[in-house]
Amino acid sequence: MKTTNLGYPRIGQKRELKKACEQYWAKKIDLDTLKNQGQIIRKQNWKLQQQIGIDIIPSNDFSFYDQVLDTSLLFKCIPSRYKALIDKNIAKEDLYFAMARGYQNDNIDVTAMEMTKWFDTNYHYIVPEFEKEQNFELDSSKIINEYLEAQSIGIKTKPVVIGPVSFLLLGKEKENGFHRIELIDRLLPLYLNLISELKNLGVTHIQFDEPYLSMDLSKVEQKALQNAYETIHKHSPSTNITLANYFDCYGANLDIALSLPVQTLHLDLVRCPSQLDDVLKSNQLNPTTSLSLGIVDGRNIWKNDFESSLKTIDEAIKELGNDRIVLAPSCSLLHSPCNLELEKSIEPEIRNWLAFAQQKLTEIVSLKQLSLGENKIETKLALHNNIHAMESRRLSSLIHNNKVKERVAALTNKDSQRKNTFEIREGLQRKKLQLPLYPTTTIGSFPQSTEVRNWRLQFKKGTLSKEKYNELLEKETKDSILFQEEIDIDVLVHGEFERNDMVEYFGEKLNGFVFTNYGWVQSYGSRCVKPPIIFGDVDRPNPMTVKWSSFAQSLTKKPVKGMLTGPVTILQWSFVRNDQPRSITCNQIALAIRDEVTDLESAGLKIIQIDEPAIREGLPLRKQDWKQYLEWAVNAFKIASSSVENTTQIHTHMCYSEFNDIIEDIANMDADVITIECSRSQMELLDAFVSFNYPNQIGPGVYDIHSPRVPSTDEMILLLEKANHQIPAQRLWVNPDCGLKTRHWKETKQALIAMVKASKELRAAVPEVI
Ligand code: GLN
Ligand code: ZN
Repeated sequence: MKTTNLGYPRIGQKRELKKACEQYWAKKIDLDTLKNQGQIIRKQNWKLQQQIGIDIIPSNDFSFYDQVLDTSLLFKCIPSRYKALIDKNIAKEDLYFAMARGYQNDNIDVTAMEMTKWFDTNYHYIVPEFEKEQNFELDSSKIINEYLEAQSIGIKTKPVVIGPVSFLLLGKEKENGFHRIELIDRLLPLYLNLISELKNLGVTHIQFDEPYLSMDLSKVEQKALQNAYETIHKHSPSTNITLANYFDCYGANLDIALSLPVQTLHLDLVRCPSQLDDVLKSNQLNPTTSLSLGIVDGRNIWKNDFESSLKTIDEAIKELGNDRIVLAPSCSLLHSPCNLELEKSIEPEIRNWLAFAQQKLTEIVSLKQLSLGENKIETKLALHNNIHAMESRRLSSLIHNNKVKERVAALTNKDSQRKNTFEIREGLQRKKLQLPLYPTTTIGSFPQSTEVRNWRLQFKKGTLSKEKYNELLEKETKDSILFQEEIDIDVLVHGEFERNDMVEYFGEKLNGFVFTNYGWVQSYGSRCVKPPIIFGDVDRPNPMTVKWSSFAQSLTKKPVKGMLTGPVTILQWSFVRNDQPRSITCNQIALAIRDEVTDLESAGLKIIQIDEPAIREGLPLRKQDWKQYLEWAVNAFKIASSSVENTTQIHTHMCYSEFNDIIEDIANMDADVITIECSRSQMELLDAFVSFNYPNQIGPGVYDIHSPRVPSTDEMILLLEKANHQIPAQRLWVNPDCGLKTRHWKETKQALIAMVKASKELRAAVPEVI
């Protein structure tokens, strides 16, 4: 039996890589210093894994930005717009960062490559771009250098490479008339060359990641996969190839996967526990193929349940024997924070239930020792402690809140229905709110200046008193209300100056959440997120936002929107407990938000926005599983939003996703108004809303807040007129496409003034409509 890892976090346990990259981009350190920092992290990771006792340690899992972009460069798949940079002979690393982030210098202005989510994780990768006559060329220097680097400290590694089929499918065709999978014949020979080069260096194990096996594959794609791995095997029968699929079952691709002549097949037994049985019972596993059991959750922070895992491993041993079993995390540990030992302030009882990347590898080694029946004291102690931790978690009074459980169990359909239909509500709301045609609003946050961020930092550190902090925030909020009145926005927001992050803010106020100090996970490039941990039943001890919203409302006669984060987004952007279905945790959060909505309404807020930007990204990888997810996710939003009177207007906001395929479900959320991102795609997104005949009111974002550029009134009018072709004026709102938190005041003011003007000009053109 062997242990392995599929990939280790590369950001460094205190985000050293992030800091080094950003310093390099700001020209504060030189390229050698940056490269050196990369090397330090790699060596630390390899040594750590060796010390822990991992038998087969990965290499090429390091990346300065993204492993998919690394793969694009491995095959010199460089879009032609970067040619000017190649001609300039800039450093390879600078070309790499230019592709990731765009380049604006010396009269060269090229945009970055597109970025999108890595399957259903919160990691974003750089989308490869393919042309019909795509030319591939091998540049194996990164893989080879890293292999030799590990070898120089006495560690023989297993290079990890994205497999040919997934690499192509992760990309995008940049011209019409072909499907990217057709490029496989051009690409495959380079994989063979790569394998030869590695073999010549003495490499014996290679891991090819093919996570597309967790998706619905067409016949052509399946065929391409089969052909690819058969060709690889013929070319290099003695190399130990691991085929790694993760994030879901092999599903309809299982037969193909089992037929492949690979030495090791990886199973994600966390996402798909039934898969081991399926494989063992199928009798189709090649007699020379080993199974890599992905038994330790690579995407969550809970300790592994040893008793349950040992049973699973035993089952596999009985069928296959020790020698054909490899123990592994379910997927790359890229999605786990680095080291629990750094967390000094988490309550010890809860901390004892957790395992980060480093601890997960220790678990894998312990599981191997236990299943081999090792008699060492430490081994026995590891099991004893694990059983104890599991039991402590199951029985803990910190987790269980019967009131909450009962309330969730007692939910009925009525709790997720507004008192009346949208048609009736719309009329009543019109009367009550008396808004003009094309009402203007914003998405919630206003610029968080360095000053505001500093106040929060000082308040957290204890160097700014609560009174003073509140006083400063009050002044900021007041200024924002005055500003909005002055420029004549119709529906105001308080500005969210008291909030750090839209999930963290609520997590800190709810029971059942805990926060880490160093639990960073890479989101994209140098950007990391620190998701809260939901460990117990969620409950709202006190109102969370009423104070700021009603303060803001007290300053103006115009309606102020209450501003909340929705249950699905809070769930989606947290580490979620694994001892109950996600849907139940989501309903618990939904009830907490529902109580907040009720309190906001009682406090006099006539409009309440519940943001759900993450609803799309929670979709399961396979279409057949969508329905079930959407049912509970949409229902959770409705639980959160349905307690109010007909006259109270519920808004929701979504951004940066393709909504076309879930438009019906968005309509089922039954928000009175939805504000969505549209400006980048020039209102294309609206097509979905129109062809489906979206019944409620819509605010298509009329300008892109992710750019400092100030749009003109005319531009916005043009977009609105476009929208107006498709959506009746009475249902159209005017707003930016997302929160303004990351912008500066200067451009924000100019843009909003122009936006209000656009709305007024449109209004003036149709006086008779109301
Ligand atoms: N209300 C939030 C804000 O304005 C919404 C953020 C988001 O859509 N991601 O910041
Ligand atoms: Zn947004």
